[in-house]
Amino acid sequence: MTTKQDCDVLDQEDPLRELKLQFDLPVGTIYLDGNSLGVLPRATLGRVQEVIQKEWGQDLIKSWNSAGWIDLPGRIGDKIARLVGARPGELIVADSTSLNLYKVLSAALRIAKEDGPTRKLIVSERSNFPTDLYIAQSLAEQHGLRLHLVDGVDEIPAALNSELAVLMLTEVNYRTGYRHDMKTVTAAAHAAGALVIWDLAHSAGAVPVDLNGADADFAVGCGYKYLNGGPGAPAFVWAHPKHAERFWQPLSGWLGHAAPFQFTPDYQPAAGIKRYICGTPALLSLAALECGVDTVLAAEAIGGMAALRKKSIALTELFIELAESRCASLGVRLASPRDELQRGSQVCLSLDEPLHEAGYAVIQALIARGVIGDFRAGDPARLKDMPHILRFGFTPLYIGFADVYDAVEHLVQVLKNKEWQRPEFNEKGAVT
Ligand SMILES: *Cc1c(COP(=O)(O)O)cnc(C)c1O
Repeated sequence: MTTKQDCDVLDQEDPLRELKLQFDLPVGTIYLDGNSLGVLPRATLGRVQEVIQKEWGQDLIKSWNSAGWIDLPGRIGDKIARLVGARPGELIVADSTSLNLYKVLSAALRIAKEDGPTRKLIVSERSNFPTDLYIAQSLAEQHGLRLHLVDGVDEIPAALNSELAVLMLTEVNYRTGYRHDMKTVTAAAHAAGALVIWDLAHSAGAVPVDLNGADADFAVGCGYKYLNGGPGAPAFVWAHPKHAERFWQPLSGWLGHAAPFQFTPDYQPAAGIKRYICGTPALLSLAALECGVDTVLAAEAIGGMAALRKKSIALTELFIELAESRCASLGVRLASPRDELQRGSQVCLSLDEPLHEAGYAVIQALIARGVIGDFRAGDPARLKDMPHILRFGFTPLYIGFADVYDAVEHLVQVLKNKEWQRPEFNEKGAVT
């Protein structure tokens, strides 16, 4: 079994170890929730302060030109493009993931209707992130289509048939960390005549993505998870160049217009992905997002996403090894794929009976010890397929091997000492 000393050696030999210096991590915290909210980069405070004091405070409205505010969605988009296999000018930062999903699903449905009017189905996974399903429900309702949810990955091939209009998947599942094979799934859906939308919320900055290489149709993704853009950071949207100009997206706002400063009464969409901008972007948030994206790009000089992925796999493998060898007898079970190729940058655990309902309190007890993960409730009607889970994200930019060792040691203590039984750990907050 890997020892703490082994972990210290792994940290010393880690070619990415210096990347951690980019962040202000609270002392005494092992942060395993970067899949939910990335940590604060050191550069962010100074940059946002500069935007507030100088660009806004002193230069006021001139900054749209002089500080390049107007170009920021495209400039940051080009940076994110490097992480997800898109070309410059193909990806834009705008709005939230939910809104961008609304835009791309609407466009995809228009294309599908034109190319195959008899296709009546949107397919996704029941375990997809709820907002993705809610947006799809709304659009299915509007377009007179049906949303079909598969219960497992193995049901997807059968759903790829002549009725399918759009397959909408999150590449890395937010609960289990299961990672689809983007290229294979996209090719299979295309062979069935359907379009594919990929949600990269748990992929961008976490695993190498190659949107063009996979010949994907549309993609959206999140700025505040592995991209460290800050709470509520703007999201991003990509459309394959062959689709980008086929239709308007439905939120045809003025900054997605071909010539916004002509203030004409009729809408003319901008060329390419720029039409996916709606209104004025949240500039302060964009400034923070750019600092976050830069922390991931800093890895480019030392192996880039491939090196980050290699370390992420080593971290998650170590966590699984230690959690299983030290906690299996305490009722802990792996709830993520064991095969590293099928796993994103997170690992989930579930608790056997009689502990199954204690998951929330176990996470609270861990947080009290400085180990921050999170809890996701299962489906009460189908706990066997969708159990309550303890979720741990491993961001290789700032998590080390000794952190993994210590996190498991804390979990052992919480379970052995039954710390989770304390009343304060069993009171639920509004956000879990
Ligand atoms: C985090 C996440 C979102 C978040 O959407 P918001 O609009 O930013 O609230 C959407 N989809 C998936 C799959 C996510 O993991």
